[in-house]
Amino acid sequence: MSLSNIAGEGKTTVERDVVILGSGPAGLAAAVYAARADRKPLVLAGTDPGGQVALTDTIENYPGFTQGVTGAELYELFQKQAERFGAEVDFSSAVAVDLRIHPFRITADSGEYRARALIAATGASPRRLGIPGEDAFRGKGVSYCATCDGAFFRGKNVVVVGGGDSALEEGIFLTRFAAQVTIIHRRNELRAGKILRRRAEQNPKIRLLLETVVEEIRGPDRVQSVAVRNVASGRIDVLPADGVFVFIGHDPNTSLFSGQLDMDPKGYLRVDSRMQTSVAGVFAAGEAADPVFRQVATSAGMGVAAAISAERWLQENG
Ligand code: NAP
Repeated sequence: MSLSNIAGEGKTTVERDVVILGSGPAGLAAAVYAARADRKPLVLAGTDPGGQVALTDTIENYPGFTQGVTGAELYELFQKQAERFGAEVDFSSAVAVDLRIHPFRITADSGEYRARALIAATGASPRRLGIPGEDAFRGKGVSYCATCDGAFFRGKNVVVVGGGDSALEEGIFLTRFAAQVTIIHRRNELRAGKILRRRAEQNPKIRLLLETVVEEIRGPDRVQSVAVRNVASGRIDVLPADGVFVFIGHDPNTSLFSGQLDMDPKGYLRVDSRMQTSVAGVFAAGEAADPVFRQVATSAGMGVAAAISAERWLQENG
């Protein structure tokens, strides 16, 4: 690490070989490898330390954990392992980057940093429905995290929106607390895989409402009902509900790089097979650059690949 004054700005700037943006599986796996290459990487943890993993109840498909592992536990293990080899995890967020200059400039809420190599592992955030009542009742019955909020719905009726693995997995988790969980999916076929489909179908507390969309979330003070429309018949019904959990996918957190790194039309960072982005020395890993797999294990793998590529790039480019 070196400290320097950038001419004309009078600000003290910390310069690092490797700065990693994001502390999910991709960011922390990259940190383990960069730290083991003795680069003393700095991880700016972001607004949600641990990313989506830290908010997941149990992860049953991360290799090596035969009985599963809680998301919070896995995140803690990733972080401890990275720190053991010399990574520094700073609980702040990058608010701007300038990738036109090298070393790259990162402005975070904790200060200014310069990085010779940068790894973007900024992850993805839950997608919103964009319907009336969603914003007004956020935290008043509308949630995007069953692990965080499920316990508030003991003995209550909740609605889960979505038909993918997340909707079913989180819906099953919510049956620990809720009296009834109604999973509402817009098509007549679930997207989720077989195992979760079977578990949901066999769970007596789960009711599946297919070919249905939620049009409005209603109060007045907290969520009390949802207006739903059957897409086949057009019929509108009002269902009583104490909570609405939305699991309809994610959007990549890449606005920080807009205009500076190439992205696909959905905002995922474009990388080559070495995790290299459109700017030499900037690598990307995890869900910010992965519209396809989006698993803890694949994100960690991308983080490892990005760190190895960053190390090679630093060796070749000083
Ligand atoms: P996803 O697979 O993209 O599914 C999103 C679901 O939300 C789909 O059913 C989609 O409907 C629906 N949807 C999207 N926009 C909507 C809207 N505006 N209104 C209503 N419904 C909408 O997302 P995910 O379930 O979060 O899963 C993401 C990835 O993580 C997947 O690769 C998944 O396999 C993985 N994952 C795995 C596990 C596990 O293995 N245990 C657990 C969680 C997640 P359509 O089906 O009609 O498109």
